[in-house]
Amino acid sequence: MRRGSVSVGGVMVCGEVRRGRIHSVTMELAGKGRELADKKDTQVSCLLFFNELLDDPADLFYYGVNRVLAVRHESLKYFNQEIAAKLLAHIVGIYLPEIVLAPATTAGRTYLPAAAAMLHTGLTADCTGLDIDEESGLLLQTRPAIGGNVMATIKTPDYVPQMSTVRPKTFRIPPRMERGGEIVYPEVPTDIFESRIEVMSVEYSDDGDSNIQDKDVIISGGKGLKRAENFAIVRRLAELLDGGVGASRPTVEAKWIGYPHQVGLSGKIVSPKFYLAAGISGAVQHLAGMQTAQKIVAINKDPDAPIFRVADIALCGDAADILPRLTKRITEEMGQR
Ligand SMILES: Cc1cc2nc3c(=O)[nH]c(=O)nc-3n(C[C@H](O)[C@H](O)[C@H](O)COP(=O)(O)OP(=O)(O)OC[C@H]3O[C@@H](n4cnc5c(N)ncnc54)[C@H](O)[C@@H]3O)c2cc1C
Repeated sequence: MRRGSVSVGGVMVCGEVRRGRIHSVTMELAGKGRELADKKDTQVSCLLFFNELLDDPADLFYYGVNRVLAVRHESLKYFNQEIAAKLLAHIVGIYLPEIVLAPATTAGRTYLPAAAAMLHTGLTADCTGLDIDEESGLLLQTRPAIGGNVMATIKTPDYVPQMSTVRPKTFRIPPRMERGGEIVYPEVPTDIFESRIEVMSVEYSDDGDSNIQDKDVIISGGKGLKRAENFAIVRRLAELLDGGVGASRPTVEAKWIGYPHQVGLSGKIVSPKFYLAAGISGAVQHLAGMQTAQKIVAINKDPDAPIFRVADIALCGDAADILPRLTKRITEEMGQR
């Protein structure tokens, strides 16, 4: 929609419901949406669409949402890109938000571009920073560009809504605050729920130990581990600390470990309390996925390795030697408690 052709206002967050649960990325976006809305002195709404909801949607008020737009329909049992895109375009057409934020999850990446096309507006995918331009009031959408070598800040001055997707864990969930709000069940025409896609069956993959985004501790390995077998020592320390195993892209490309473990620009963004990088150089594309970790420890045999610039503790030496010694020492310390 051309800016000026309709009157727009407010921030709309697209929530994500997975198997009946409100995914944490919804709270992350609600917090960022609140921040942006406060700068524009406006409201935050959150669209939730589902077949079944086990969580209380009113919980979203604690994270800054003023109004939950809840759409329940049996066709929403499994994610359907066509229905989700039509639904979002329909809801945006009614509530006319100025800004739409959505998660860059597999689902978000699929239906947001289609919804943006239906609304004749642009979409900035995978934003790592969002702010409001003080002068123009426009959304400043920052994302890595040119292979992660530059950060580009993008504005959408001519079309509304301004739409962005954000990867999970890019923003922190804000602290819960006592706030009120309303839950609205908008009426949606039945043809929105019709689709050419028929879901024959769904199999959920067992995330197992690759679900690293929820871990407080991540032990990651890079090419400096030298051999695939050395991931066993990374895994041992991760297990000891009840953490997850991360990896740099070249180790995934070398098939030392699976893609779900990849941390970085083209992998997962993680924000654990503790991140250990063993034999990882610290290329910008890797840093893009882990630099918000609270404590970073790096093991590298090169004293000038870029990873040491972001590390709180730098251990200079052979990872295959230091990691087992570290594991042994921690095991002993834990045994003494
Ligand atoms: C578009 C694009 C997207 C990308 N996305 C990602 C991404 O998501 N994630 C990612 O990780 N990369 C990504 N990359 C690749 C990135 O640029 C780097 O090539 C990569 O991160 C390097 O991985 P590495 O540090 O494991 O390997 P290397 O660059 O080979 O570095 C190995 C490190 O190990 C050290 N070392 C060597 N031997 C030892 C030893 N015995 N003990 C301790 N240290 C040792 C070396 O000093 C070196 O610092 C991307 C690149 C592009 C262009």
